Amino acid sequence: MNLIIKKNHNISQKKISRNAMKVLYRLNKLGYEAYLVGGGVRDLLLGKKPKDFDIATNARPSEIRKLFKNCRLIGRRFIIAHLIFKSEIIEVSTFRAHNRNIENKLLYNYSRKKKNRILLLNNTFGKIEEDAYRRDLTVNALYYSIQDFGIRDYVGGIKDIKSKQIRLIGNAEKRYKEDPVRMLRVIRFSVRLRMNIDKKTEKPIIQLSHLLKKIPSARLFNESIKLFCFGHGYLTYIQLQKYYLISFLLPFLCKTLSKKNSIFLKNIIIYGLKKIDSSMKIRCPSFLFSLFLWYPLTDNIKILSTKTTLNYFKIYSLSMHYILKKYSISIGIPKNISLKIEKIWNLQIEIEKIKKNKTKKIIKNNIFYYSLELLYLRSKIENQIKLKRIILSLNKKYIFS
Ligand code: ATP
Ligand code: MG
Repeated sequence: MNLIIKKNHNISQKKISRNAMKVLYRLNKLGYEAYLVGGGVRDLLLGKKPKDFDIATNARPSEIRKLFKNCRLIGRRFIIAHLIFKSEIIEVSTFRAHNRNIENKLLYNYSRKKKNRILLLNNTFGKIEEDAYRRDLTVNALYYSIQDFGIRDYVGGIKDIKSKQIRLIGNAEKRYKEDPVRMLRVIRFSVRLRMNIDKKTEKPIIQLSHLLKKIPSARLFNESIKLFCFGHGYLTYIQLQKYYLISFLLPFLCKTLSKKNSIFLKNIIIYGLKKIDSSMKIRCPSFLFSLFLWYPLTDNIKILSTKTTLNYFKIYSLSMHYILKKYSISIGIPKNISLKIEKIWNLQIEIEKIKKNKTKKIIKNNIFYYSLELLYLRSKIENQIKLKRIILSLNKKYIFS
């Protein structure tokens, strides 16, 4: 183990959230080992503001629950404690051992019936060293103590922070097979932290990209948000394409669309992600997926129009429900988000009517602005005179970002 003492690193306690500090103090005071770990330590060392603070400890989940009133135990694969504060959630996980018995098995392949078995196998508590080796990247396995202010490094994370290397701990192929989401995490961190991917970490990705098919859609949906809604979406998308990961993450991209719409789809993703990167206001899952699924929607409208004599609004509404239902299953869009996407899409028709003054009063909430952005992107991509006119007339009333 390499101990980096206080004077040899740049972490200042002032940069750590007060809640995380309180939790660390409390656990230490009661005789438990407790460290800041993961993105908190990594980002502070890199001079960035951490997204959240994670803590690792030798206190068991049941003990953590007794110590903190604001604790909620979560997780099926491995129980972790969420300590709920007003402004943030601090995740506290108990040191975990890498269980040799499950090393070669795919965790996510276990059926629900074997739920208890998974829990048992994964809940093997361990020592700090073991906890370090079960983490994904070397730069994510650094432990900061508020007792001696030192950083404990078991896997060479400090060296990789300095040389800007994203490196998986252990044998890369094995670690991806255990959990294929690590391939997405490698891409995400390499883009976000502007680091290079180590050769051995990079090599198996293309060949193993198909393993993402086995990941539950709800988990992939959450990963998509982290990949595309935190300011680096466009570059991340390009990298995901390079490593053949994108079509497993967003399966609608490889579904055959009409020729025109498939070009539009590619463009709306590119322009849309660039826009989302540049504006905090529109970094939101409902806007993201309203863009991604817009052209699958319009294709469906076209197909349905040739098959029925229903009026346009009925076809529009049926198609929205069909597409949202279909992709809620395959990409795990939760109900509350698909309701918002539906509102964004519905407003496309309402906004078109504003110009003709034929519409009821539209409430100018976030959904309205997301819908305006969608219309704006469509007008740019489709180069349609009609859409351009609407945008021009609206521009006088509303400012587009
Ligand atoms: P950020 O929160 O800034 O996105 P992070 O590294 O803190 O980045 P989290 O998802 O919060 O990421 O996870 C906290 C830590 O848990 C990680 O730093 C890593 O050590 C460990 N971890 C998360 N996901 C995995 C995984 N799939 N396999 C192994 N370890 C993981
Ligand atoms: Mg984190």
